[in-house]
Amino acid sequence: MAKKPVDKKSRKGAEESEEEQPQLEMALFQGPLFDRVVDTKTHAKLIQSALVAAKEMVSDAMRRRAHTIQIEPREGRFALRYTIDGAPYPAAALPGPRGMAMVQVLKLLAGLDPTERTQPQFGGLQLEFADRKYELFVESTPVGKAERLRIKIFDVKLALEKPQDIGMPDSIKDRIREITAHRSGVLAVCGPPDSGATTLSIVAVHTVDPYLYQVFNMSDLRGRKLINVSNFTPEAGHDLEMSFDRIIRREADVLFLDPLRSPEAAQTIFQYADRLSFILEVPANTPFEALSKLMEWVGVDMVLRGLKGILTQKLIRKLCKDCKQAYRPNPALLKKLGLSEQTTVLYRAPSPPAEDDPEAPTVEELCAPCGGSPWHGRVAALELLEITDGMKEVIATGLSAEAVRRQMNADGQVTLQKDAIRLVSEGITSLEEVQRVFSGGGKKRPPGKRPRPPGPPRVQG
Ligand SMILES: [Zn+2]
Repeated sequence: MAKKPVDKKSRKGAEESEEEQPQLEMALFQGPLFDRVVDTKTHAKLIQSALVAAKEMVSDAMRRRAHTIQIEPREGRFALRYTIDGAPYPAAALPGPRGMAMVQVLKLLAGLDPTERTQPQFGGLQLEFADRKYELFVESTPVGKAERLRIKIFDVKLALEKPQDIGMPDSIKDRIREITAHRSGVLAVCGPPDSGATTLSIVAVHTVDPYLYQVFNMSDLRGRKLINVSNFTPEAGHDLEMSFDRIIRREADVLFLDPLRSPEAAQTIFQYADRLSFILEVPANTPFEALSKLMEWVGVDMVLRGLKGILTQKLIRKLCKDCKQAYRPNPALLKKLGLSEQTTVLYRAPSPPAEDDPEAPTVEELCAPCGGSPWHGRVAALELLEITDGMKEVIATGLSAEAVRRQMNADGQVTLQKDAIRLVSEGITSLEEVQRVFSGGGKKRPPGKRPRPPGPPRVQG
């Protein structure tokens, strides 16, 4: 336990860093999710060989505020990668046998079968770190003769599952409530993979007032929870129509479904869209793509009759409150961004210290709360494309991305760009971050220097 997988400050003398090293917080595994059982007896040897290493790795990831851990086989070794505030950071390369054992022990702890390596598996575990409770969702996928392990980390208390959690503006919240208030119509949610579209669809469900409307869930949430929503399990042998009929008999107003996967399911849903209000995810990168897919799957007439709106988001990193730097924007910039001339201050990230200067402070020394990253968490820029009368005309008379955009502006609808600029004007993020997200879909590496994982926040007091 003496060796810690945490970056040491390499530019300081060894004796100094030894003294300053605070007591590092360790993660406590607290059993699997989904009522699974961990067979510790059969796998005692595996636990003995890899549990400590797995615990140290997960603790390291937690200290850096990672929300995803990925262990991927690569040329006989395993590459470890964290995702922090949506940006990937390579953490380490693990030797083959050690990486393999770590994957197996994490599978075991999450209630998966470590001996089964040819089938994908999914499970989860509970964990406590720094007096907070977390849920880790663990997914194993066979890759050649090895496996890839993906762990998603959720802070139980900080779950981004309600409109206020993601900072949804009232203008959008009110529109979603209006759209879902009539026992009819489809509200679609979309976004690229890993853009949080599933979380956003859960937020959309939670936007419906549960005291006024009966909300049912028919989707497999993989451990995520819905509040004030009745779960509905289809009877064996029942198809979608039969299930929908049963739900309608139970006086349902709104029904949350699994992501749309086939034209057949889409057609059935749109046939029922005059009796139920649906919220579901459409696998598409943009609202325009989702619209095109629905038109292809159910036809223009059904889209015009049944579709009410398409919601999407882009996750944008929030500037650290402690080290963000204020600047006075010039009038030309304000005009270009469509911001009021009264805006006197915007914020940006501090420039990173020069890498070739031995005297420069390390990024970790610059700011304790964010570990010098200089980001802290993410926020959503939102867009709700509504099927207004004007939009119906655009759909009916030949769809193009440009025409949809023009109509959204004509209708005064909130677009991703507009909402992102709002976040800039409120000092929550920087213009540079918004440009990064919009130029690379938010999935590219941050610009500038090679990514360096932010250091763990210092222990206070
Ligand atoms: Zn900071």
